[in-house]
Amino acid sequence: MLKELSPKAQKIKDQLTQFMDEHVYKNEAVYEQQLNDAEHRWVVPPIIEELKAKAKAEGLWNLFIDNEEYGPGLTNYEYAHLCEIMGRSLIAPEVFNCNAPDTGNMEVFMKYGTEEQKEKWLKPLLEGEIRSVFSMTEIEAASSDATNIQASITRDGDEYVINGKKWWSSGAMDPRCKVAIVMGKSDPEAETYRQQSMIIVPFDARGVEVKRYLPVFGYDHAPHGHAEVHYNNVRVPASNILLGEGRGFEIAQGRLGPGRIHHCMRAIGAAERALELMIERADGRETFGSRNIDKAVIREQIAESRIEIDSARLLTLSAAHKMDTEGNKAARKEISMTKIAAPRMCLNVIDRAIQLFGGAGVSDDTVLAAHWANARTLRIVDGPDQVHLRDIAKLEIREQLNERTSKEKEPVR
Ligand SMILES: Cc1cc2nc3c(=O)[nH]c(=O)nc-3n(C[C@H](O)[C@H](O)[C@H](O)COP(=O)(O)OP(=O)(O)OC[C@H]3O[C@@H](n4cnc5c(N)ncnc54)[C@H](O)[C@@H]3O)c2cc1C
Repeated sequence: MLKELSPKAQKIKDQLTQFMDEHVYKNEAVYEQQLNDAEHRWVVPPIIEELKAKAKAEGLWNLFIDNEEYGPGLTNYEYAHLCEIMGRSLIAPEVFNCNAPDTGNMEVFMKYGTEEQKEKWLKPLLEGEIRSVFSMTEIEAASSDATNIQASITRDGDEYVINGKKWWSSGAMDPRCKVAIVMGKSDPEAETYRQQSMIIVPFDARGVEVKRYLPVFGYDHAPHGHAEVHYNNVRVPASNILLGEGRGFEIAQGRLGPGRIHHCMRAIGAAERALELMIERADGRETFGSRNIDKAVIREQIAESRIEIDSARLLTLSAAHKMDTEGNKAARKEISMTKIAAPRMCLNVIDRAIQLFGGAGVSDDTVLAAHWANARTLRIVDGPDQVHLRDIAKLEIREQLNERTSKEKEPVR
């Protein structure tokens, strides 16, 4: 099944690897230092804008876009190889303008935006000049089932009025954040999957209130941050509705397919880096009279990690290939399987590496702790594990029973 990369994708991959070696890893500490040196951490570290300018100049920009009008036009399968490399560093996705939630929001604007919306919001996002938020999850609703979402989007003359209490709106703390895509109910009486809409809200609109930031295991993820955001009687022009009233679920489906798989690709890159660190550490340390790298138990962990990483990569690539050849809908089961397997694998591998590093593993002296915290959130975001397991089982059972029914119909020979 493994296809060779096209010469175009291979060239970008080589260039990206070189860029990471020359510019990204060594500036991770600079990024953190600049945030620490600032008056507060919700500022843009200058190094990120320098790296973005370099990456853009080299054409390593908007690599996630499969549409040649806006980006390099790579397939999901090709992008998987690049996204994995970016996942090795927590600062890398933004360097190449490939970070969530901006990627998903750009996809929404590309697919569903009017020319005016594209001009106003998509263009500066594509240029990396502004950042954005996707506000779906609510404090008071179990949001893994999006039919529970209660925020209201009510038509009033030429405007819509938005009210709701959202949280975990990633990127809301970023001083460059200028726009939110908000999901809410425009018609509570409509059929379940036609009740919700998505609407564009300029982030400086009156009534948008960023209440507090939410740390992840103590990490602030500055300067983007995740925040509780209240929308209090926010008024926007009626033309800000995306695609039309009642089309929220349709947009959510279109937005989440590729985004889910991007997280998985990055998780594979994070795991690869953890395994490299693990081997380097084991090679450099001795306990109880022998080198750690020579101990059977540690070799076993290295082997287990390699098996798990390669298995998750194959699953991810096969999902990406199916998305390319049969479409996102046909690849639903594979996407869900990947969304379960890759974060689990990543957490296992990083956990082994942390153990081998001892105290250093849980400190900020290595990237391991921050990558672990990030990977742990992946079992919750974009559909918690249990929701994906439910979907996989449903699709598997449907396939098997349909198959059995059609076999039963075959004449007995
Ligand atoms: C770091 C981070 C970033 C995020 N970024 C964003 C963002 O940018 N925009 C945004 O809108 N949201 C964002 N989220 C929110 C995230 O998408 C939600 O947390 C997720 O969808 C789960 O919703 P919930 O928190 O309301 O949990 P709930 O819906 O209350 O679910 C809680 C738990 O219930 C269990 N559960 C749910 N359904 C079932 C089932 N059918 N069977 C068995 N068990 C079940 C699962 O274990 C689940 O984890 C982010 C979250 C985090 C942690």
